[in-house]
Amino acid sequence: MSECFPGSSYDERDCEPMFSGSQVTKLRYSYQDIHTLVKMGAKDFEKLDFVPDYMLAIGGGGFIPARMLRTHLDVPILAFSVSYYAKHAHEPSREPTIVQSVDLELLRGKNILIVDEVDDTRTTLAWVLKKLQTELERTGDTESAPTRFAVLVVHNKQKPKNGTLDPDVPYVACESTPGDVWIEYPWDVE
Ligand code: 5GP
Repeated sequence: MSECFPGSSYDERDCEPMFSGSQVTKLRYSYQDIHTLVKMGAKDFEKLDFVPDYMLAIGGGGFIPARMLRTHLDVPILAFSVSYYAKHAHEPSREPTIVQSVDLELLRGKNILIVDEVDDTRTTLAWVLKKLQTELERTGDTESAPTRFAVLVVHNKQKPKNGTLDPDVPYVACESTPGDVWIEYPWDVE
């Protein structure tokens, strides 16, 4: 990634850490916490040389952050929904599959900001980007203007990633968190 703002490392004041003994096992965020982080991420994003035409919210986790971001960036939101399935029974690894895609002609030649809540293994972000880039290439012609992508996530987990993003894709994380700690979002709470 050309410009990476990994986000400030999490501060216990940004959320409510849950402990098992002295070990942090979960970080619990409120809607207000996420609003504050998204606002900070929007400020970092605006420092980049990337003016988005649309946000592409990865659903379901990216929907609420994208709406919060729209308050700061004022860019229309498109949706791209994925779900996950286990490749093999009894195997924890999951692969995304498309539930709802997006009209590629809306994306063609535009600047698209992909928004998700958390970059964990990076599988989803890498997969979605590759899918869109491949499909745009396959269905376009030589005259087609290139589509540019950027990524904004609320959280980047500090861990080795399975997926990789093109080096020229601008990337903003509002905050970095430890790789092995589960994040509980307010919309996850039953
Ligand atoms: P990936 O591993 O592909 O980067 O992340 C896949 C998806 O897993 C994320 O979009 C998110 O929905 C979910 N996920 C991964 N880690 C967490 C977490 O700590 N908390 C929550 N709520 N979801 C997570």
